[in-house]
Amino acid sequence: MTPGATAHQNPGGIMQVRAAIVSELNGPWRTETITIDEPHAHEVKVKMAFAGMCHSDEHLRTGDIAQDPAILEMISGRPSMFPIIGGHEGSGVVESVGEGVTALQPGDHVAVSFVPSCGTCEACASGRQYLCDLGATTLAGPMISDGTWRHHLGDVDLNRMTQLGSFSEYVVAHEASLVKIEPWFDLRAAALISCGISTGFGSATNRAEVRPGDVVAVIGCGGVGSGAIQGALHAGARAVVAIDTDSSKVERALALGATHGCATTLDAAFTILPDLTMGRNCDSVIITTGVLSSELVEQARSITAKGGIVVATSIAPYNQQSIDLNLFMFSMYNQELRGTVFGSVNPRYQIPRLLRLHHDGQLKIDELITREYTLDEVQLGYDDLAAGRNVRGVVRF
Ligand SMILES: [Zn+2]
Ligand SMILES: [Zn+2]
Repeated sequence: MTPGATAHQNPGGIMQVRAAIVSELNGPWRTETITIDEPHAHEVKVKMAFAGMCHSDEHLRTGDIAQDPAILEMISGRPSMFPIIGGHEGSGVVESVGEGVTALQPGDHVAVSFVPSCGTCEACASGRQYLCDLGATTLAGPMISDGTWRHHLGDVDLNRMTQLGSFSEYVVAHEASLVKIEPWFDLRAAALISCGISTGFGSATNRAEVRPGDVVAVIGCGGVGSGAIQGALHAGARAVVAIDTDSSKVERALALGATHGCATTLDAAFTILPDLTMGRNCDSVIITTGVLSSELVEQARSITAKGGIVVATSIAPYNQQSIDLNLFMFSMYNQELRGTVFGSVNPRYQIPRLLRLHHDGQLKIDELITREYTLDEVQLGYDDLAAGRNVRGVVRF
């Protein structure tokens, strides 16, 4: 359904649009008609073109990234994240801009970024925009511009996944959450690059510091893993071992350029790595499974070489406090365990660069999109993801 068919604006500037919302923990994705206000100062209204269906939105629905009620109360005035508009990957065209917005104008093409980058906080000023201070209320809360709400369901104010809520025909977002892209870049690829692909790619090139000749293993070959595999190859990896219990995802990873594939780290340890590395194991292992569990950390470490790096890219449950780790081997092998957000790269730098790689045929994105969905099919898309029927679903508006 086209936005024009359903969205309409009244003279007061309030617009009715359709959006996919979760109203309660473990509740279904449901498409509702909501209202959005015109952008305030430093905000931008975007007509969405595509929204990627990343696993993180499911984490939101199932409570893995549910924040402490006391913290939520403090930042948003209520103890729950719900109701919330899902979606944090996406692309679209700027419809209108609020006062003080100088870097964007109507008609500009943009990718959304779940990591805001203000450019002036200490993290941004030191070149680490992926750690921007504006990310503090990224999970829930009012607009970061002025602490008021722009999206409403009846008279209830709506949270938006990572200050975006891209499962909506139109979104109002802070200018720091939008990255301008060239109009000739592919908007569908932009939606996937805006989070999953960039996160995976940077996990390899930046956080794992993959170097020419390295052997890299990627555990979990969905959207993020697909980015990690391609990032490792671009960085010069000699071999990339794709590990996923879903054999169809391993097949796809091999098609993307992974040199070896298997179902588990045990398979890799016994059937692939002895010959491939002469028993040295992997220079780096990147964990990009749908959910990060404690056992996976030790499994990853166990196939990491002396002096190697394990990168934890996946999201673990919010309250996960302990991990399995053989501490003796960890220290005696001089290994490292590193967390990462957005692959430890800057959205304004990474998103346009990867889009250019895609444009030039050097980054495979379209091969990952198993199916497009309508806004009304978000629940179906996540059912398909859970059943292993898609690598990445995309909502086409
Ligand atoms: Zn994501
Ligand atoms: Zn900042």
